[in-house]
Amino acid sequence: MGNLAGRAQQRFEEIFDREPEGIWAAPGRVNLIGEHTDYNGGLCLPIALPQRTYAAAAPRTDDIIRVASLDFDTIAQIDLAQVSPGVPSGWLGYVAGTIWALREFGFLVHGLDLAITSEVPIGAGLSSSAALEAAAGAAASGIFDLGLLRDDTARTTLVEACRRAENYIVEAPTGGLDQTASIRCQAGHALLIDFAEGASASPIPFDTAGHGLSLVVMDTRAEHKLVDGQYAQRRESCEQAAKVLGVDLLSQLTVSDLDWALARLEDETTGRRVRHVLTEIERVRQCCAALEVDDFATVGELFNASHASLRDDYEVSCPELDTAVEAATRAGALGARMTGGGFGGSAIALAPADRVHEITQSVEQAFAAQGWNTPSVFAVQACGPAHRVADEDILTDGADK
Ligand code: ADP
Ligand code: MG
Repeated sequence: MGNLAGRAQQRFEEIFDREPEGIWAAPGRVNLIGEHTDYNGGLCLPIALPQRTYAAAAPRTDDIIRVASLDFDTIAQIDLAQVSPGVPSGWLGYVAGTIWALREFGFLVHGLDLAITSEVPIGAGLSSSAALEAAAGAAASGIFDLGLLRDDTARTTLVEACRRAENYIVEAPTGGLDQTASIRCQAGHALLIDFAEGASASPIPFDTAGHGLSLVVMDTRAEHKLVDGQYAQRRESCEQAAKVLGVDLLSQLTVSDLDWALARLEDETTGRRVRHVLTEIERVRQCCAALEVDDFATVGELFNASHASLRDDYEVSCPELDTAVEAATRAGALGARMTGGGFGGSAIALAPADRVHEITQSVEQAFAAQGWNTPSVFAVQACGPAHRVADEDILTDGADK
């Protein structure tokens, strides 16, 4: 992975005709369990991926944010003073929005030149957007000496800046899971995030390799649009249900309140939405308890139950996700589920390490039989959060291949 850091360094030098001051990296994430719970004040459990976005950066003397996206082969820029909701549009909004948010928070920041490149699949539900924000924010923190990577409290401020960029400048209504995962996860651990308590986060051991297991990501390459109406509709049903049930957030109820809640909700569909949220939050609790005692069989069962709930009660799955989950399970996974917002994107499977090959083949064959795009299937482990890349890890030799 040092190679991408080297590529960012080399291309920065060619494009901006000077040396970057450093390279910063931030990971994509995958949520193990706890889907559509963040905006309900519930629990989720992401890990940071080995796939990262890299940003080579150096300060400018003016207030311009000038960014080369090596993946899109394009350069764009904006003056910080012009950043506002919807401006700049497109990918630059994630970068400029984050630096703008830091200034809004009162930090002394100025213009930057950045060269960005990523190995996080874009639009696959693995949060390339948060990785981009976090890499840009980490770079700004390093260059302007803001100390935002120093400890978990400082990192929480960086999370807020990235989230502000995505919600307010890009205008995507995401709940903070992605940024928290990219900036606060720890290697070898998942991160239990409790959105009821201002996104408090605690690491939970997740050492798959040490137990002969793999976490397999299956990127379906199917359409996935978080900004579309379905996500907003699910949020709205939850808000309305909370009102009827007399709570601010559904997470103030538990599974033991479910029968009472269902009896009070006249609309059957809304009842199913609430059942998903309450049972899913309980599954996150059970998953953490199982992980604490290395009970991976139970983790697999919880993955399966989560998928069924998202498919049948919350109705955010799609044929590609269901097919990936079924094919992985048939090929020997302990459990599998869709992950992320749904309607495409990725699914995950927990499996014995020696089954990864079979699972990959099984999923590819099932997709081929339907005439769908070939999915991208790969094993991951829980990696570390946003950081400055050490000089010895920046390998420029052959970086441009
Ligand atoms: P996800 O976060 O699931 O990958 P999103 O739709 O939230 O999907 O974010 C994808 C968007 O983030 C892209 O359309 C692009 O605007 C931006 N983006 C992500 N990575 C890069 C990159 N390496 N270079 C430029 N833009 C990027
Ligand atoms: Mg995103």
